[in-house]
Amino acid sequence: MDFGLVELTPEQEEFRRSVRTLLDEVVTQDDHDFQRATGNGHTRVAHAALGAHGLIRPAWAPEDGGIGADKVQQRLLELEFDRAELIQVSAGTSRLVWSAIETFGEKDLVAELKPKYARGEALFCLGYTEPDGGSDIAAAKVRAVKDGDEWVINGSKIFTTGAQNCTHCFLITRTDPDLPKHRGLTMFLVPLDTPGVEIQGIRTFGGERTNIVYYSDVRISDHYRLGGVNDGWTVLRGPLDEEHAFGQETDGLKEPYGRGFTPVLERAYDAAVEWAQTHVRADGTHPIDDPVVRIRLAQVAADMERTGCVDGPEGRVFGADVIVRCSADLVDLVGPEAVLSYGSDGAGAGETAAPDGPPVWRIDFSHRFAQGTPTYGGTVEVFRQMIAQHVLGLPRPNFPGSKAFINKRGAVGAPGVTRSVAS
Ligand SMILES: Cc1cc2nc3c(=O)[nH]c(=O)nc-3n(C[C@H](O)[C@H](O)[C@H](O)COP(=O)(O)OP(=O)(O)OC[C@H]3O[C@@H](n4cnc5c(N)ncnc54)[C@H](O)[C@@H]3O)c2cc1C
Repeated sequence: MDFGLVELTPEQEEFRRSVRTLLDEVVTQDDHDFQRATGNGHTRVAHAALGAHGLIRPAWAPEDGGIGADKVQQRLLELEFDRAELIQVSAGTSRLVWSAIETFGEKDLVAELKPKYARGEALFCLGYTEPDGGSDIAAAKVRAVKDGDEWVINGSKIFTTGAQNCTHCFLITRTDPDLPKHRGLTMFLVPLDTPGVEIQGIRTFGGERTNIVYYSDVRISDHYRLGGVNDGWTVLRGPLDEEHAFGQETDGLKEPYGRGFTPVLERAYDAAVEWAQTHVRADGTHPIDDPVVRIRLAQVAADMERTGCVDGPEGRVFGADVIVRCSADLVDLVGPEAVLSYGSDGAGAGETAAPDGPPVWRIDFSHRFAQGTPTYGGTVEVFRQMIAQHVLGLPRPNFPGSKAFINKRGAVGAPGVTRSVAS
């Protein structure tokens, strides 16, 4: 394996410089403050600027709204987004579902949405989870009933992250309750400005904004159906596999899945190191003078490094494990200051240490943010089952509550298949 630095060509350097200049202009301190205050997940002006420069889907050809970026350029973009701390939750959900829209949507729907999406005017959120449960997506109860040329949708979805920013929801509905559960589902791309859609915000412990979305007699044209009636599971498979990182090949340039949460932890770590170097103890020494402190920081650094070596579903589980464990370690190491949130006295207000002291609020942020990471996009428990079955080839688990276990004892009403292991 070659761990050498990649030499960029002058053109690649120029591309990186131009992206950095653009992001420095359009991602402002006000944007950071807004995101930290609201957890909104979408940076409107910056996203529009990226659209205007063909950088929302950079690999697309210019006639489709991209710049035909190669893999190195795409990687440089990712690195610059990270450096600028550009929050792109809604851009991320849009990216997950676009290929399903393109594959299963009517031609004129795709033709209408593609340029809007590339320009940053259309965004898509994920409407899978319902208040009764998210792991078992195929048990969806939100009803869609055909009425003439229209569909009438009723029910509610929870954790529809970014609904407040998005134009459409990629919504899985139940169209035939009499069919086996995976076969009675139909997928729609519901315009969120349709009468009867009500979006209510939920703030998580980690400060992120997500939503409960109510659908009350929401009437949409058949034009917004993706794929066949009762064939919604087929439409869902691609975005779900992508979210679960199944079948993705590492090419050495793409960010490994394990590092998905690491940038937040890295910033907390940098704050902790700065704290250890600058905090003055009663005896006049700095925490960094203590070998135990150095060892604990080094352990976090080593774990962060290892997240870059694990890809696919294993990376998702390991990345969540590292941010949860290491953020707690940093809180323990730094002490009470590490639970001061952004904007509190003593939390280090600025982006850099001087003159307010190290930004220890980043440790608090990482610790709170970490708590959601083992849940969204499918829980780590469910991922562990996927890894056992689909990566290691082990048999389906047999434990109290599982279908196999209950069936063995002759019970009825087994709970069914999860979002991950269903086929
Ligand atoms: C911040 C945040 C953002 C989210 N964003 C979205 C979004 O944009 N769109 C969306 O549709 N959903 C979203 N979700 C929902 C998320 O995908 C679900 O929370 C997740 O899939 C788990 O579903 P649940 O919370 O209903 O838990 P449940 O499915 O009720 O599970 C409860 C517990 O049982 C365990 N469990 C369930 N089934 C199994 C099994 N087969 N084997 C072992 N253990 C099992 C789970 O691990 C969990 O610990 C978001 C969630 C959060 C917290």
